[in-house]
Amino acid sequence: MTDKDVKVQTYDVIVVGKGNAALCAALAARDQGASVVMLEAASEDESGGNSRFAGGVMRFAYESVDDLKRVTDVTDEEIATSDFGTNTRDEFFDDLFRLTSYRTDADLSEILVTGSLDAMAWLRSKGVRFVLNYGRQSGLVDGKRKFFGRMPIEASGGGAGLVQYLDGAAKKTGIEVLYETRAVSLVYDGATVQGVRVQRQGKPEAISGKAVILACGGFEANPEMRTRYLGPGWELAKVRGSRFNQGDGLKMALDIGAAPYGNWSGCHATGWDRYAPEFGDVNVGDQFQKHSYIFGLLINSSGKRFVDEGWDFHSFTYAKYGGEVLKQPGQFAWQVFDSKVTKILRSEYRIKFVTKVSANSIEELAPKLEGVDAGQFVKTVREYNAAVRDDVKFDHVVKDGKSTVGIEPPKSNWAQKLDTPPFDAYMTTCGITFTFGGLRINHETGQVLNVHLKPIPGLYCAGEMVGGLFYFNYPSGTGLVSGAVFGRIAGAGAGQAAKQE
Ligand SMILES: Cc1cc2nc3c(=O)[nH]c(=O)nc-3n(C[C@H](O)[C@H](O)[C@H](O)COP(=O)(O)OP(=O)(O)OC[C@H]3O[C@@H](n4cnc5c(N)ncnc54)[C@H](O)[C@@H]3O)c2cc1C
Repeated sequence: MTDKDVKVQTYDVIVVGKGNAALCAALAARDQGASVVMLEAASEDESGGNSRFAGGVMRFAYESVDDLKRVTDVTDEEIATSDFGTNTRDEFFDDLFRLTSYRTDADLSEILVTGSLDAMAWLRSKGVRFVLNYGRQSGLVDGKRKFFGRMPIEASGGGAGLVQYLDGAAKKTGIEVLYETRAVSLVYDGATVQGVRVQRQGKPEAISGKAVILACGGFEANPEMRTRYLGPGWELAKVRGSRFNQGDGLKMALDIGAAPYGNWSGCHATGWDRYAPEFGDVNVGDQFQKHSYIFGLLINSSGKRFVDEGWDFHSFTYAKYGGEVLKQPGQFAWQVFDSKVTKILRSEYRIKFVTKVSANSIEELAPKLEGVDAGQFVKTVREYNAAVRDDVKFDHVVKDGKSTVGIEPPKSNWAQKLDTPPFDAYMTTCGITFTFGGLRINHETGQVLNVHLKPIPGLYCAGEMVGGLFYFNYPSGTGLVSGAVFGRIAGAGAGQAAKQE
């Protein structure tokens, strides 16, 4: 196809993708009075990207109940009976810096942290409903509901609900969506981006616009790119979400000289059912994940532990430990629990599709753990049990300091002996969520920069495609909020630029 095929200009702003970041960008562009079209590679049934698979927990800065009230209704009774904790800007910064080994781009993270509460209030103003996160992030302590992990709010209906609310808002404001329309390259005359070439329901077309916002995810669903950038073995990971995030947006931007930025060899990956399908299943959502490993042991094929399961709340380790599982022989790990913690395991342990074995003793459990050296497993549990500190009380809603002594790797919190039958074990492998490598953007407008750090006229990006925020690890609930913060910025930037032309 040549640029002669570009149709008469129809739209001010073209948004590529239809996940959370794309919808936020489209709405923000529309707020500027721009005409907006969204291009979605998936059919309407499969649309919504990873956002639709998300649990819907949202990490934003809040200091008080009044801040939470900007996001959702909180009753007087809830206030009286709950301890919501805080996620002050400093705490949010500290978590981001600590988890990314101080690599996160200071300016980008400042925009994210300081803009996060406003972004939540803005989402609410667009019709998104948020609720208190009782199910996943709280527990009862002395009759009071204590929220932990600095994340007391989630989208009603999870990520699927969030997308549905934003979809409703987009429809109301007249934003057009073209489904089964895969963007394949940018229309670029060497100076300005003028549109997008697409495959629309199998046929090539070109759509012109004054500005293009790329919000079409990373390369997590593309095994060739995973192997190329993340390294050998990553083609073997399962994909937790959408099968449509093939790295197209990154490729087409790099093709015209955009600057790659961030941790291109890094990604978010978690423990995921060993026999889950190759890609996410919208009917199961995020429930193939297994995030309660902090209360048990992670065991590899050699029958050994390989990480500190209790280093911190799962929110601060889960995104990294998927990669640790991938590194183990056979790319699997069993999560082993005793009955003392059965009640506090998350809901995902009770779904129908689960790879689980049970037994009444560790010796009886050992041969049931497919692929594991049974003798060594029994030895590992004995050594672990002997190393558990008995002088510290177990408390699942705080980092309780109940640790092991004298074993490697240690277990720093929630270390209870495995001694109370029945014992349950769940087989997991690595599920990739999204990739960290992205593009470099201008902080004020979300415009994409070229390799010489000059803005590329007409090109913007948002969501997973923004590079520089996450390195090595990630605090849970940040992806959706980041999509909203940077989606708003790119949408406003592109909308304003298009209207000024
Ligand atoms: C199982 C799971 C659970 C998660 N839980 C949470 C959570 O609780 N909280 C949280 O904050 N984050 C969570 N995340 C992460 C979060 O989902 C992502 O960070 C976020 O959704 C990324 O949004 P996005 O809009 O950038 O990308 P996406 O939502 O993935 O959207 C990308 C869009 O681009 C489209 N697309 C791709 N290529 C093309 C192309 N060539 N042309 C046109 N369209 C294209 C896709 O179809 C899709 O519509 C979770 C992710 C998964 C997979």
